[in-house]
Amino acid sequence: MIYDVIIIGGGPAGLTAGLYAARARLNTLIIEKGADGGQIATTDEVENYPGAPEDSTGPSIVARMAKQAESFGAKRASDEIVEVDFSDKIKILKGKKEEYKAKSIIIATGAVPRTIGAPGEKELTGRGVSYCATCDAAFFEDLEVFVMGGGDTAVEEAIYLTKFARKVTIIHRRDELRAAKSIQEKAFKNDKIEFMWDTVITEIKGDAMLESFVVKNLKTGEEKEIFPDEDDGAFGIFVFVGYLPATKLFDGIINLDNGYIVTDDNMKTNVPGVFAAGDNRVKSLRQVVTATADGAIAAVQAEKYIENNFEE
Ligand code: NAP
Repeated sequence: MIYDVIIIGGGPAGLTAGLYAARARLNTLIIEKGADGGQIATTDEVENYPGAPEDSTGPSIVARMAKQAESFGAKRASDEIVEVDFSDKIKILKGKKEEYKAKSIIIATGAVPRTIGAPGEKELTGRGVSYCATCDAAFFEDLEVFVMGGGDTAVEEAIYLTKFARKVTIIHRRDELRAAKSIQEKAFKNDKIEFMWDTVITEIKGDAMLESFVVKNLKTGEEKEIFPDEDDGAFGIFVFVGYLPATKLFDGIINLDNGYIVTDDNMKTNVPGVFAAGDNRVKSLRQVVTATADGAIAAVQAEKYIENNFEE
């Protein structure tokens, strides 16, 4: 079977592309390797997606997007694409389970959390080191947690973590947060949040579980090791130091800039019939609202591409 359009990724960009493509009566398949939603699925509160109900959570918004795309006939596949061949007019995607063919492709693979790169970080991921507050906050009920990062994500997730943790310390490498002022204000007002400025984590230690970690003050050069409170016996580190585009698969196949996919305003990549949408492409603002906009544009352009290149 040759699809009109295959969308790789089931986050806001991919699901919106699916909605628009299916609504245009294109034979549409959305392939997602894990759970729908990408980064937004691990976000508790979403307050800046226009028109969303006040109590919207990331998962609730994603579930509505998926339902809407499916209601217009977008098909779904759960598979991980491991190889792509864009050399012919019909594009081929090789998944772990199946091979897929389409007249056009929309790459909506999003981005993955960036790691700090400290020794011990990888080994202790899931053992006290986490990249997802909504997934892991409950493990730290009444304990102390440390959040590395100073952007919107770090500060928002730190605020969320105060619902569970006894105390949340934001560790930031500068003396000023990058997060939006409105988010900063909330954090400064929160009694449970403390700050460790000009500091980075240089080593994370523990055998089976996180036991301690070393921080370094970048201004004074002073290093110290931090242990859990004796009564607690455990604590957690949440890392939110940005994201990296999930585009390795396309390296050498489509034009990338620092790993981000280069597109024009119509979401076209340098390969005819291949479009990109969402956080994986070069752009100035990475939000749900811009991801959905990208998805809509990519689908409309895919429709035009098919009309011009395939139909008599
Ligand atoms: P970000 O804005 O890139 O911030 C990353 C933070 O991590 C920065 O504070 C950065 O420090 C720090 N950092 C980076 N590498 C580091 C390292 N190796 N060691 C220590 N610290 C490091 O990433 P983000 O907060 O995940 O946000 C990503 C995008 O999503 C942004 O465009 C953001 O606006 C958007 N977003 C928006 C919302 C919202 O509107 N509600 C919520 C979440 C995310 P420096 O500040 O010193 O560079």
